[in-house]
Order: sequence, then structure tokens, then C-alpha cells
Amino acid sequence: MSVVAIVGRPNVGKSTLFNRICRRRQALVDDFPGVTRDRLTTSVEVEGRRFVLMDTGGFLSGDPTDFAEQTRRQVLLALDEADAIIFLADAKAGLHPGDEELVNILRRSDKPVFYAVNKVDGREQEIHAAEFFGLGTDRLYSVSAAHGYGVRELLEDVIAAL
Ligand code: GDP
Ligand code: MG
Repeated sequence: MSVVAIVGRPNVGKSTLFNRICRRRQALVDDFPGVTRDRLTTSVEVEGRRFVLMDTGGFLSGDPTDFAEQTRRQVLLALDEADAIIFLADAKAGLHPGDEELVNILRRSDKPVFYAVNKVDGREQEIHAAEFFGLGTDRLYSVSAAHGYGVRELLEDVIAAL
């Protein structure tokens, strides 16, 4: 079965998106970075298409406080294991150098990567999301994992790439 992994810096809303897609409160969402203990997978069906959804962000071995290194390793693992990747950034936090670093890693892969900006809860964040065009990706999805905005559109494109 195809695997779709959600990657991104801590606290951007990966687990919230995971829960939104599987419609369960399965991944632990927290205001503190790094709360997903492990890579978490679940089988989901979206628009009649079944695939494995993977939440990332847990601590791997090594220094659990080195979030940049942990996140980089999660991205490399996801690239290894997944058939498609959802990269998530945070419109409220704005464009972060860590986002650019991860995008540079993802760009080197030939797997389909979908770049999404989360926490676009309203018009104000929609404007913030625009700065992510600086990442230079062809397509940028604005989503609100908390409210569901834009998630269906993103998933339709992800499914089409599987
Ligand atoms: P992760 O570390 O990337 O898995 O992020 P989490 O899913 O744990 O979310 C981190 C924080 O962002 C939590 O406080 C969430 O409630 C919040 N969050 C997630 N999605 C949204 C969203 O769409 N809008 C807003 N305003 N907050 C969100
Ligand atoms: Mg998480």
C-alpha cells in the first residue's frame, strides 16, 4: 500500500493534520515541539483510495533537544519510506530558515512532494502564507488543519500522485 508521510518543523501542525485526515484523535497534539513519540502510521481511505498515512516528529535516538537534527533525520526517513510527502510549514510562525533547509532536502528527491502552509485560519494568515512562495515551489497549498480548510484539495492532488 502507498505511504504518505507528513513532515515539517516541530509545532507546524503535522499531528493535527494527521488527525484531521484520519478523523481520529490519534496523534498526540501538543503546544510543545516534539510530542509525537514515534513515527505513527494508520491506514486511511480518502475518496475511495486507501493508503497509509504517516505522522513524523518523534524523538529518534540522539540528542532529543536537537530539533533541527531530529527533523532533518525524520525527513530523510520519510523520503526513504514514503511514496509521497506532505511538507507542512506554519503561516503563523512565518517562513523559517529550517523550512528552507528541509525544502532543499526534499527537492533533491524524485518522489512527489506537496508543499502546504498550515494555520491559514483566516484572511490575515492567507497574506502571511504568501511569503512561502519564496521557497520557490511550483504549487503551495494553504490549509488549516484545525478547521479543515484546504485539506480536501491537498488530498485530492496527493491521491492523484499515488
Ligand atoms: P506538530 O508538532 O507539527 O505535530 O504540531 P501539532 O499538530 O502538535 O500542533 C502544534 C500546535 O499548533 C497545537 O497547539 C495545535 O493546536 C496548533 N495547530 C495545528 N493546526 C492548526 C491550525 O490549522 N490553526 C491553528 N491556529 N493552530 C493549529
Ligand atoms: Mg506531532
